[in-house]
Amino acid sequence: MNPSKRRTVIAGNWKMNFTPAEATAFINEIKPMVAGKDNCDILFCAPYVTIAAAMEAAKGSNIKIGAENVHFAPKGAYTGEVSAEMLKAIGVEYVIIGHSERRQYFGETDETVNLRTKAALEAGLKVILCLGEVKEQRLAGITDEIVGMQTKLDLADVSAEQLKNVIIAYEPVWAIGTGLTATPEQAEETCATIRRVLALMYSEEVAESVTIQYGGSMNEKNAAELLAKTNVDGGLIGGASLVAEKFTAIVDAAQ
Ligand code: PEP
Repeated sequence: MNPSKRRTVIAGNWKMNFTPAEATAFINEIKPMVAGKDNCDILFCAPYVTIAAAMEAAKGSNIKIGAENVHFAPKGAYTGEVSAEMLKAIGVEYVIIGHSERRQYFGETDETVNLRTKAALEAGLKVILCLGEVKEQRLAGITDEIVGMQTKLDLADVSAEQLKNVIIAYEPVWAIGTGLTATPEQAEETCATIRRVLALMYSEEVAESVTIQYGGSMNEKNAAELLAKTNVDGGLIGGASLVAEKFTAIVDAAQ
């Protein structure tokens, strides 16, 4: 983390977990546990049907609620999808785009990730853009090329001004939900690579201001070491975001 240059963000990704009642109970439980811990932004990205209940429970606290995806079209014949305007209309501020589970199971490509990112930014949402290599790519020694290419393609035609509303989550796919975590050195190295690519695309100054999170089995045990790295500005947390004590310990590690 480098709090003098950029904001630390600890974000939970609930994935397909928590009914509205469960989300309400969870937020009510964790609210007092993270109260006053203002050295980082705290948010949970929730399934669409759970967002309103979670927002209601989080009212008046330092917890924000986001969405887990958004479609790129403003409206129309896209059964099952939700537009950026719809999210804005219910007060959503953040949205995850390009999560590896969307890429892996739902056919998302860098092209659709870029379209979704632009639509979200144009609607005034803040984007958590996920990217990262699969195991074979890391083993083949091409991680830097892969994340560099994803960064360029996913952010194509995103202006420096719009980039102020983008957080990048570096998530090695082999570490998500597997219990395998990148070492702090691997996380630092690849987050630094992403920042170098941003410097080439925009400028050194712009790149230095972008929050780059690490995600992939971050938990209460490994968070402090990961967050101690200069280029790791927070975490995107799946499994551990469903357990109040574990998530709070990660927030504590960011204080
Ligand atoms: C994620 O869903 O983005 C994630 C990092 O999951 P987990 O923490 O469970 O690996």
